[in-house]
Amino acid sequence: MNAPHSSTPDIVIEARDVAKVYRVGDIEVHALRGVNLSIARGEFVAIMGASGSGKSTLMNVLGCLDRPTSGVYLLEGVDMAQQGEPALALVRSRRIGFVFQSFNLLNRTSAAENVALPLFYAGRAADSLARARAALGALGLQGRERNLPSQLSGGQQQRVAIARALVNDPAILLADEPTGNLDSQTANEIMSTIQALNRDQGLTVVLVTHEPDMAAFADRVVTMRDGRIVSDVRNRPPPLAATQAAAQRAAPADSTPLGLSFLRMAFAVASRAIARNKLRSALTMLGIFVGVAALITMVAVGQGANAAVTAQIESLGTNLLIVLPGAVTMGGARGGFGSASTLTVTDAEAIRREAPAVANVSYLIRQQGQVQFADKNWTTSIQGVTPSYFAIRNWPIAAGHMMTAEEETSAARVCLIGQTVYHNLFGAYENPIGATILVKNVPMQVIGLLQARGQTGFGQDQDDVVYIPFSTAQNKVLGVASPSQAQSSSAAQSSIYGAQTSPYVTAPNPFGIQPKLAGYVNIIYVQARDTALVQTAKREITQILAKRHRIEPGQAEDFNVRNISDITQAMEGSSRTMALLLAAVASISLLVGGIGIMNILLVSVTERTREIGIRMAIGARRTHILLQFLVEAVLLSGIGGVLGIVAGVAAAEAVSLVADWPTRISPLAIAGGFLFSAVVGIFFGFYPARRASRLNPIDALRYE
Ligand code: ADP
Ligand code: MG
Repeated sequence: MNAPHSSTPDIVIEARDVAKVYRVGDIEVHALRGVNLSIARGEFVAIMGASGSGKSTLMNVLGCLDRPTSGVYLLEGVDMAQQGEPALALVRSRRIGFVFQSFNLLNRTSAAENVALPLFYAGRAADSLARARAALGALGLQGRERNLPSQLSGGQQQRVAIARALVNDPAILLADEPTGNLDSQTANEIMSTIQALNRDQGLTVVLVTHEPDMAAFADRVVTMRDGRIVSDVRNRPPPLAATQAAAQRAAPADSTPLGLSFLRMAFAVASRAIARNKLRSALTMLGIFVGVAALITMVAVGQGANAAVTAQIESLGTNLLIVLPGAVTMGGARGGFGSASTLTVTDAEAIRREAPAVANVSYLIRQQGQVQFADKNWTTSIQGVTPSYFAIRNWPIAAGHMMTAEEETSAARVCLIGQTVYHNLFGAYENPIGATILVKNVPMQVIGLLQARGQTGFGQDQDDVVYIPFSTAQNKVLGVASPSQAQSSSAAQSSIYGAQTSPYVTAPNPFGIQPKLAGYVNIIYVQARDTALVQTAKREITQILAKRHRIEPGQAEDFNVRNISDITQAMEGSSRTMALLLAAVASISLLVGGIGIMNILLVSVTERTREIGIRMAIGARRTHILLQFLVEAVLLSGIGGVLGIVAGVAAAEAVSLVADWPTRISPLAIAGGFLFSAVVGIFFGFYPARRASRLNPIDALRYE
């Protein structure tokens, strides 16, 4: 081996005893068996040798794409074995331009974009396209900037690859059989171009070829055989101009920050990848889409339900307590429940008299029955109430006047009707006030029309009702019902809060109390003096009734006192169940969606292994590759998330239309849904992205 007899040996490439062993199964392939080579700045060296002699292996080591198994490789005086991945990437980005025999251009990417790519990884994206055009122009490719590699001839593709290798002004050009695939005329043109770059611009060139004509362009020819250098011949000394120009290229590489422009490019690449596989991307987004939509709907429905419950509490009156007959536990009934009403008017009077925390008491009996007006009839709930009922239930009238105490004591034949009854008996514009209707065949004058109340949380129409004075009901309407009639009608009855009761069933009175006023009642309504006194009032009522009904301590009570929060709990409970269900759907969908993204990205990484290799070979750092795939993951999940938000808002609106439920679409939930999808993308995208970034450049390039 001859040392180069250069007068100013500014050595840029120095290999000392470099060996490379490939292990294929149990067999060791010695591709390089101790190569010693030093190349000075500004030289143009050709490496020749038969196929399989180790030329490409050596080039990969020189280009920092691969590491030698043993030996030392110094590039511009720096031992590359000591360098970490970012430093190697920096060298590939700034110091070396690599040209492959097989071009290795990115498909579906224009010539100009291919050439501009190294600028992004070098953090020099400003005017990148202009520089790419200039580089293409210098190689005679004006007007071909927008062509895809598939739209270019082999020679043109190779020139694009050379332009890409040169765009970052490298100090060294490494070309592995750049003319191997080309006809001799094109090959000669390309060799002339490379020679000119060496002569005029001082580019150090190392070029692999197995054709002597091509080697003739070089100043020095190194020949390899079986992993060793067997001859090193200098045809002529390097031209002085080249050596001088080369000295100016000696600027050391500085580190490059991750620019915004890189992120923009990553977004462009990711959106192109997503657009290329539309169906696959859409299916991948589906999980995130469903998850976020369910999340948004869940929050909207949940908040809407809460608002509905609150509104209902307010409409019922906050100080309200309800006493129901029968032993009822929350969420279920105990034995004997519903068999007979155990509450009487005298119970109600006792509560009014004896409970200090109670402000007002009313009571109610009711039956299903028919009402008639002219030729129209309607089956509704006929309820006998005392006048204070409407105040306690906080229920104003829309027209006419309220029931008076006089009408109650005189058992007047008057009634107040709800909106549903009004609509079914009267025409839309007819004034019901003063009209006489038949209530269970008893003529009654309508004195008032109640305001609309709407449905309860249980879907009961509160406006489908006729109210008459309690005494009238007892003495003239409901009270005249025969036991058998009452028996049959009791089946149709149901309390607005779910308790089935029937006051007129001729049940034995287990307590032997003879009520002074004959009647049993279905419900006693009690208003506490103050919201803070609701619990006190509840205790007092329980004590009074237990004493009157002679309930022994420990014995089950035959009545039930509930306040509004007890009642609304059931409703809140059901909305909570729905919210929980949606939350489960949301989280499972997000999980499945995340796994889908991970799966597709793993496929994508495998599909694009070569692309990753190319990107690394032209200077991409691991961080670049990691970010590129993360951006793709986030873009996938982000698009799914945004579509999910739109669908979720629409679904919430639909729910509110169908269920007549006010849904609240909170901006917080929308922001949360978006954030959630992005986090899922990052979380599940990280593993595939990391896998991509961990690829060895040369392994990735060799991947088929
Ligand atoms: P050349 O470029 O001179 O044709 P290479 O450097 O490609 O030769 O290959 C040198 C030797 O190493 C050959 O015997 C080849 O089979 C072997 N070789 C190259 N790459 C690998 C690899 N990735 N795995 C195993 N053996 C390899
Ligand atoms: Mg080769």
